[in-house]
Amino acid sequence: MFNNRIKIKQLLAEQPKGRQVTVMGWVRTFRNNQFIALNDGSANNNLQVVVELGQYPDEFLKRITTSAALKVTGVITESLGKGQSIELKATEIEILGDSDAEKYPLQPKKHSLEFLREIAHLRFRTNTFGAVFRIRHSLAFAVHQFFNDRGFIYLHTPIITASDAEGAGETFKVTTLPFDKTPRAENGTVDFSADFFGRPTNLTVSGQLEGELGATAFGDIYTFGPTFRAENSNTARHLAEFWMIEPEMAFYDLEDNTNLAEEFIQYIIKYAMEHNAEDLEFLRMRLLDEEKTKPQAERSELDLVQKLQFVTENKFERITYTEAIDILLQSPAYKKKKFQYDVKWGIDMQSEHERYLVEKHFKKPVIVTNYPKEIKAFYMRQNDDGKTVAAMDILAPGIGEIVGGSQREERYDKLVQRMEEMQVPAEELWWYLDTRRFGTVPHAGFGLGFERMVQFVTGMTNIRDVIAFPRTPKSAEF
Ligand code: ATP
Ligand code: MN
Repeated sequence: MFNNRIKIKQLLAEQPKGRQVTVMGWVRTFRNNQFIALNDGSANNNLQVVVELGQYPDEFLKRITTSAALKVTGVITESLGKGQSIELKATEIEILGDSDAEKYPLQPKKHSLEFLREIAHLRFRTNTFGAVFRIRHSLAFAVHQFFNDRGFIYLHTPIITASDAEGAGETFKVTTLPFDKTPRAENGTVDFSADFFGRPTNLTVSGQLEGELGATAFGDIYTFGPTFRAENSNTARHLAEFWMIEPEMAFYDLEDNTNLAEEFIQYIIKYAMEHNAEDLEFLRMRLLDEEKTKPQAERSELDLVQKLQFVTENKFERITYTEAIDILLQSPAYKKKKFQYDVKWGIDMQSEHERYLVEKHFKKPVIVTNYPKEIKAFYMRQNDDGKTVAAMDILAPGIGEIVGGSQREERYDKLVQRMEEMQVPAEELWWYLDTRRFGTVPHAGFGLGFERMVQFVTGMTNIRDVIAFPRTPKSAEF
């Protein structure tokens, strides 16, 4: 019987002194043949287990090595030592799983994040990754809480789709055709009629188009699922497999959409601050430590928790794309030719431009609206100026784009005209166009990259460190 165990998180919170309890977990350290730091993953803090001298023979104590799995029964007592207020006086220790200390890759010392990525199957057992993934869990839970409280329907959009109509990025093809004997049509092209679905298919790059179908029936929906982009960009913000949250709302215009996005981001950050204070404190200290190696000028003014507080307590800055370009053109960085890429109206802002706006100019999250239509997707609502669309991106300090959204083009003729201009095949998207033919309504939505959000909240600089098993170019281990 294992389920009479108590989680360490609960023990540390309740401090039931004098009570007999059973805990199970993995050894972090074992000092002086007497003090075991036991961690069970429920919290960042360990439970100190005290073994009485002479209680066990040496051969037994030798097996209490880093990462050995233990079942310990004992009595909770006040701790006289520094660093913890309670400890567990062991009356019975069972070794559930030995761990060969010589071969165990994680030593009780600081490892680099790069090294830990190579042993991603074990990195959850470190303080840093424990904290990151508990926070990730909380954020995911908060996402559902937020939308559920507001009457949104959680819609599961397909992972295999036939449309890359979005043109959001390169897709991963889904096929069962043999590579060595691909069936060919007479003209030499691949004969997809012989394929599993009888047509070319790919992994989804976004659930939005299907999301719109849901919104035009339920009113408000959201998706929260994996998306796949075969973009060969080896950056600290791009994954080939990432999770996206895509709410889509009928009877919403661009401003409603922006308000919801801001409220949503603030809500889930607050949720993590309330439920993961200890983990955030650990990450805050970790970052402060890291910053010490940087020159003063590059250190951040706010620590992690202050930054999160600031974001939840202050309105995001709202500017139009045109205003953003003006700010960039007026900036000392531009005048001193510090930007690698040129700035002029019409450009798709590069990361360096976004970071300038957010980190140097406004020093807070910025919502940029009304982008040139040429650099945005066909489904975005065309503004009356004939040049821009009702798009909005939210840019976050240290991360860049965290949300991309828009009011959608609900007018059938305008939508079809834009599809033609952008060579999006209308016949393949007949089902999408149907929403504009049968009771079309103003509607809007956005996509939030979940890992970028986790990065923002945890302060982790590389996106590979906030997803359990990152998929990036040339890397799909584990
Ligand atoms: P970027 O310009 O950063 O590549 P995008 O314009 O391609 O982003 P969208 O297509 O608008 O992004 O996707 C919506 C959101 O999904 C983005 O705001 C971002 O948070 C996230 N996202 C996009 N691509 C990736 C990726 N490869 N890995 C992780 N998150 C991503
Ligand atoms: Mn992209």
